[in-house]
Amino acid sequence: MRQFNQDQILFRDAYRKFLEAEIAPHMEAWREAGIVERSAFKKAGDLGFLMIWPDEKYGGLGDGDFRYEQIIIEETTRAGCKQWFNTLHSRLVGPYFQRFGSEEQRMRFLPGCVSGETILAIAMTEAGAGSDLAGMRTSAQDRGDHWLLNGSKTYISNGINADLVIVAAKVAGADRKHAMVLLVIERGMEGFERGRNLKKMGMPAQDTAELFFSNVKVPKANQLGEAGKGFYYLMEGLAEERLISACGCAANARKAFDITRDYVMQRQLFGAPLADQQNTQFRMAEMDTEIELAQVYVDHCVAEHNAGRLSGNMGAKAKMVASEVEWKMLDLGVQLHGGAGFMDEYPISRMFADARINRILAGSSEVMRLIIGRDVFSQKYQSLFD
Ligand SMILES: Cc1cc2nc3c(=O)[nH]c(=O)nc-3n(C[C@H](O)[C@H](O)[C@H](O)COP(=O)(O)OP(=O)(O)OC[C@H]3O[C@@H](n4cnc5c(N)ncnc54)[C@H](O)[C@@H]3O)c2cc1C
Repeated sequence: MRQFNQDQILFRDAYRKFLEAEIAPHMEAWREAGIVERSAFKKAGDLGFLMIWPDEKYGGLGDGDFRYEQIIIEETTRAGCKQWFNTLHSRLVGPYFQRFGSEEQRMRFLPGCVSGETILAIAMTEAGAGSDLAGMRTSAQDRGDHWLLNGSKTYISNGINADLVIVAAKVAGADRKHAMVLLVIERGMEGFERGRNLKKMGMPAQDTAELFFSNVKVPKANQLGEAGKGFYYLMEGLAEERLISACGCAANARKAFDITRDYVMQRQLFGAPLADQQNTQFRMAEMDTEIELAQVYVDHCVAEHNAGRLSGNMGAKAKMVASEVEWKMLDLGVQLHGGAGFMDEYPISRMFADARINRILAGSSEVMRLIIGRDVFSQKYQSLFD
């Protein structure tokens, strides 16, 4: 039995109703437009659903219990609204201000993020640097009272909508390849340009863009934390980032399971429902089991995270398992739908395409295996039988 308290159950119910009324009805139009309307963020902010963890003085509820975030992710998935990348804004980017920003920066930036007037993005990836982040070329030169930022980024989620972009750049002239600085780039800064809203295989409503920086003068007041430590700051948030991804993948796998079960029960083949075939029953039984096991591990990681014990290894395991179970379920879902599974009008078809990114984003499955593999062969490794 999953553990949510009464407040969280009520929160889930209220958030579900909000999605049904304010977000889900617009998803089709936003898919067509290639972007979510900015008003989605504002509407969620007005009702306190956007960014809940910040302290009350910044406009939030001050409740850091990660299960609220899990509820938001699960319900957004359930409602088919994942392409509104609210979690990127609220839980992937927003916390950088809390963790590494000064009090002045928190007071300046967080209230607008909580209310939804300000939309956030984070820009690390470049054409030549994704998994290998240290290979980035964007650089920031220290000019005393400001940084001079030059370079470009790509595949940036919320890239068109964003008002504030946290940009990772190499500290020019530093002798360490990991010496980076995180800079807050504001909409309208001279030399900051957005490129195309990139066309993608899936998630069409999510704006994913290229960003260009040409001699952007970034005031030192927009530097997050210490110069040179940016790479380590990015790494610090990765375990949580992967848990966020895992929560969404597990929820999406269950949704795909439910859709497929409904379909095979009503689809008639050779005079009987497709669900009567032993193959259907065996495959669905396997998936029910695998999804449940993934969910139990994800819930365990959420509890460990709340207790301050989520390790990089656990985050990687949760993300790897949940995204791969999700993919397996979606592939089976399409297969059991037959030709209908390939048709855009069937939800499983879109879910299949939209979810393909989940084994790449937030650290690919291969990178997850690298992280877990390091522990397997380290001194820390403990056998159950020790
Ligand atoms: C829709 C979308 C949204 C995105 N949003 C953002 C965003 O908001 N901000 C941002 O900064 N980035 C974003 N990204 C970028 C994303 O984080 C990167 O695409 C991802 O990190 C992979 O990097 P890459 O594309 O350079 O692939 P590569 O790093 O070139 O990887 C290619 C292949 O090599 C494998 N590989 C890499 N390293 C190893 C290794 N050591 N051993 C074995 N195999 C390896 C990978 O697993 C992959 O299969 C987004 C990407 C997409 C597609």
